[in-house]
Amino acid sequence: MTSKETYIQNFINGNFQNPKSDEWIDNFNPANGEVYGKIPNSSKADVEEAVNASAKAFPGWSTTTVEERSKIMLKIADGIEAKLQFLAEAESKDNGKPISLALSVDIPRAASNFRFFGHAITQFASEAHESVGHNAVNFTLRKPLGIVGCISPWNLPLYLFTWKIAPALAAGNCVVAKPSEVTPMTAYLLGEICNQAGLPKGVLNIVHGLGQTTGQAIVEHPQIKAVSFTGGTATGEHIARTAAPMFKKLSLELGGKNPNLIFADCDYDKMLDTTVRSSFANQGQICLCGSRIFVEESIYEKFKSDFVARVKALKVGHPSEKESKLGALVSKPHLEKVLSFIEDAPAQGATILCGGKKVTVPSFENGYYLEPTVIEVKSNQCKLNQEEIFGPVVTMMSFKTEEEALAMANEVRYGLSATLWTNNLNRTMRFSNELQTGIVWVNTWMMRDLRTPFGGMKDSGVGREGGWEALRFFTEPKNVCIQYS
Ligand code: NAD
Repeated sequence: MTSKETYIQNFINGNFQNPKSDEWIDNFNPANGEVYGKIPNSSKADVEEAVNASAKAFPGWSTTTVEERSKIMLKIADGIEAKLQFLAEAESKDNGKPISLALSVDIPRAASNFRFFGHAITQFASEAHESVGHNAVNFTLRKPLGIVGCISPWNLPLYLFTWKIAPALAAGNCVVAKPSEVTPMTAYLLGEICNQAGLPKGVLNIVHGLGQTTGQAIVEHPQIKAVSFTGGTATGEHIARTAAPMFKKLSLELGGKNPNLIFADCDYDKMLDTTVRSSFANQGQICLCGSRIFVEESIYEKFKSDFVARVKALKVGHPSEKESKLGALVSKPHLEKVLSFIEDAPAQGATILCGGKKVTVPSFENGYYLEPTVIEVKSNQCKLNQEEIFGPVVTMMSFKTEEEALAMANEVRYGLSATLWTNNLNRTMRFSNELQTGIVWVNTWMMRDLRTPFGGMKDSGVGREGGWEALRFFTEPKNVCIQYS
């Protein structure tokens, strides 16, 4: 790596620059536990400069024709695709995820985010209401908000970073964005791609640093009109407390503890394959993973033995190895947090069916590897079923009736997604209506159509992303009423 790549810099007004304080944070490679770079520990002053750059760019960008904006967005998508291998390697090194996953999911989706919103903005329209009998007509203008803040987590770094930035830019806003300090690399690399695509200077500014300082400075900056945040529920609550008295628009995508409900009448083989994936993809570090498995009593013992056998066969290894199904967890503190849940399991009357231990990968002994872990619980009330673990850990228990399954699915503070395995249409409709989640998958998992509303209920968030929802969030509607004679 060149020294420029090792030292990640802020991207402000189209330039790469060091933090004003010249303070830096270590960037770790989860696969071997070593520091492989430094990232800016940006202060309020850096955020201020980014806001100023955005403010200067806004009059031009907000009045750029939709065709031109769309063209630039599509070029950014092409730029990401052209660097697929390079970006996937960078993502895998920064996050610990298997390179195969970054190649097939993370980076292609980042390109799709720009392409989707580059197209969507050309189709975005507003309503008109004719007030018959009053000689009046109303129409709605949808104006960009101005400068908006986008703050993203470490689990799907470029995927989620671009999921926010793309609609914000498409709608004509200027953006001050911060990726997670745990996985800053691909956000840094995006700056160059934006310059090459001809995105005007200052339209997108990327500031790196810690949540409590850099993130906080973005959220509390008076010129930032809206904040789109994805991350933990506690952080979301803190952001809401800061932003609400300033009357900022907020989109919060927060934690989850998603039920995976399996009925005896399902397509068993498809369910089994998908459940292995929905439990352990990305080391279980996807907000949509089905971390609580509930299985109908009549197939519980069969499922238990088949599932555990499949999980035991999953290979944990270095992210760059083709055979690795699970790579490393994202950080040492996160590995320790996940392990503490596992250690606590027996005290909660739970049984570890497989996994539960750190894995030593030869030549990478200090990497943050953990066996995929299946825990049988006795009650949905236990901590393992109520708190978000966000690692390669799933719990399972049986149920007797549909009512019992539904009650347990909803008996949690979170409400992001649910997966249902059944071929019974009536049951499908009953659950679709009654599940307290923003997303219900039936006989599938994580099948994403970018036009659909994405987000959670209860403590999993406020608002929805995706499609028109995102473009509506990033615009201010203004009704104009004209009476004529
Ligand atoms: P986190 O809340 O610790 O951090 C997320 C981002 O917020 C980071 O960029 C961080 O620096 C920043 N941040 C932290 N404190 C801040 C503050 N006071 N002000 C402003 N910004 C601040 O979350 P994480 O550990 O990076 O990610 C894991 C969490 O994200 C899990 O809870 C997971 O469920 C959730 N998540 C949710 C979704 C979803 O769509 N609902 C998607 C992915 C991840």
